[in-house]
Amino acid sequence: MRRPLVAGNWKMNGTRASVAELIEALRQQEVPAAVEVVVFPSCLHLAQVVSGLGGKAIAVGAQDCSTETGFGALTGEESATQLADAGCGWVLVGHSERRLILGESDEVVSKKFSAALECGMTPVLCLGETLEQRQSEQTLEVVGRQLARIVADAGIAAFERAVVAYEPVWAIGTGLTATPQQAQEVHAAIRAQLAREDQRIADGVRILYGGSVKADNAAELLGMADIDGGLIGGASLNANDFGTICRAA
Ligand code: PEP
Repeated sequence: MRRPLVAGNWKMNGTRASVAELIEALRQQEVPAAVEVVVFPSCLHLAQVVSGLGGKAIAVGAQDCSTETGFGALTGEESATQLADAGCGWVLVGHSERRLILGESDEVVSKKFSAALECGMTPVLCLGETLEQRQSEQTLEVVGRQLARIVADAGIAAFERAVVAYEPVWAIGTGLTATPQQAQEVHAAIRAQLAREDQRIADGVRILYGGSVKADNAAELLGMADIDGGLIGGASLNANDFGTICRAA
């Protein structure tokens, strides 16, 4: 059985004051023990969230990490070594906003994935197609190619310690959501691709859906056979909505 996982990506949002309010509101939420929950605040607020959620069964992750581990001359970067030291057990890698807006290549994403694992963190590997790619029926090819690069570099065994998130780019922050059937089709294809390498690992890996998941559509999406939870952007900034999504998982 795969334990449901709900992840909240807070993106470039929040001030110390608003984050304090969000922490307090999250602490009031009933989250079933069966569901694993992790939030990804801005790097600036990691320490605040790690200490504010202490004792509450919500883990904390970073939205990105450097390709390099350890310490060194890389101005503006945070290594997985530092993030793990700050209390983060998780890190998003390959989010489409970084791939498309900041130009991260598959090679960079792959290095970040391996850096996270090397430092004992769980990478959440984000994959997804653009609207143009979906309309030209390239979805499975694009997602398959993004995944293949990581499997080739890190090896299938890495997926015993990683999570995958399918996030169609056209559904992120747009209010458009993949239908449960559209999402399930891609999730099943991701799992089948991993199963060609190792059936046991494929059966165990959690694949999250992300893209305009809200309190009112979560149950249907997260109820699909190969959807093991959600990566939630906008709705994770509202503790009541996020709590509802966690309870739906
Ligand atoms: C995301 O940023 O990963 C995301 C899924 O955003 P939203 O839920 O706002 O579409």
